[in-house]
Amino acid sequence: MLSLRDLSFQLEVTAAILRSLDIDQVLYVVLSGVTSGEGLGFNRALFLLADEGQRALRTSMAIGPVGETEAHRIWEDMKAKDLTLGALLASYEHLRNDPTAHALTHRLGHLAVPMGSLDSLAAEGLAAGDYGPSPIGPMIARCLCTGEPAFSDTLELVCEPASEGEEPVVFRRWGMVPLQTPDHAVGILLVDNAFSDRAITLRERTLLEALGDLTAIAVEKQRLFARMRALAEVDGLTGVANRRAYDEAMPRMLTEARQTGRSVSMVLVDVDHFKRFNDEHGHLAGDDALRFVASTLQANARRSDLVARYGGEEFAVVLADTELEQAAVVARKLVRAVAEAEGTPHGRITVSAGVACSPAGELDATQLFERADRAVYEAKRAGRNQVTCSVDDESGG
Ligand code: GH3
Ligand code: MG
Ligand code: MG
Repeated sequence: MLSLRDLSFQLEVTAAILRSLDIDQVLYVVLSGVTSGEGLGFNRALFLLADEGQRALRTSMAIGPVGETEAHRIWEDMKAKDLTLGALLASYEHLRNDPTAHALTHRLGHLAVPMGSLDSLAAEGLAAGDYGPSPIGPMIARCLCTGEPAFSDTLELVCEPASEGEEPVVFRRWGMVPLQTPDHAVGILLVDNAFSDRAITLRERTLLEALGDLTAIAVEKQRLFARMRALAEVDGLTGVANRRAYDEAMPRMLTEARQTGRSVSMVLVDVDHFKRFNDEHGHLAGDDALRFVASTLQANARRSDLVARYGGEEFAVVLADTELEQAAVVARKLVRAVAEAEGTPHGRITVSAGVACSPAGELDATQLFERADRAVYEAKRAGRNQVTCSVDDESGG
């Protein structure tokens, strides 16, 4: 039933999916494939994906005109530019930053199908073989519940607008395929021919189902990959960035500082008498104390700061675009926050901090750390629970 041309189209899309670097790119590849004239030539196509907690399906990306006038303009545009699938794929980066390309995604942005009540929602609304308008939610729910694709030339699926004064988006001559992995549904691919009014052929159905399966696997893989990458950068005990993330982030922050001429400062924090704390209360209580220090540092840091567990009971707070004096103020705030908090069930703990600065990124990561480390040593010598700034910085050397 499928021709050589169909097969080569499928291969082209598959190859582009495999090359994709993130979920958005996967979605864009498939949507381009099903809407480009060279591919399936649908008027519009959209993906609804389950959110992280599997609470609801939401519009992730949609391609195509919102209304008739725009549909006409886009067709003329496509004809003029002779947009092949290859050209569409190549323009991904460009389109990503073009707000007009996301008009349909925005219009459908409020569409959400709660996954907790799929069964009851699926029982509402008309069936695919019926005539006339019907709300879109129940049909999506039914497609997910049954795991079966749905197609209709007679039923119109209506997505009510988010605000008054906007027209509803109505899907006509549509097709819907579920995106399923072996254990769960990850979303829906919906296409329509509302403007050309062309019926969906059997060949197109077959290709759509294959693309749905392919997308489901690709989306699941990208999610797993993103989760693994995040896990690889987080310290298992405290939840802040681990040493690997620190080692990767530092050169990046310092290079940026060299380019912009701004300073990067470091506040190195070391827990006071922690060996004693462990000896007196046990290692589990010690672990709790480390979690407490980490969360206190994180709670008092800005979004742009990097809070990392450098090792054992030492944490580095790296402050972008920050001079030594400002960093010292932050360090005093952090030390005070730890000392004044309730701390652990086993009593208060304190920390000592050393502050150093890399003006315009001139010091590399090792030099900056060594200065901060020497400053920590001074803070310990001076009695702990306090902040010392690097003398090298103060003397300007
Ligand atoms: P100072 O005030 O001079 O920093 O004294 P200190 O006892 O904190 O310094 P020292 O470096 O001698 O001891 C660090 C202790 O931190 C020893 C080690 O057992 C403990 N430690 C390191 N990592 C962990 C951890 O993951 N969990 C627990 N419970 N303890 C840890
Ligand atoms: Mg230490
Ligand atoms: Mg210590």
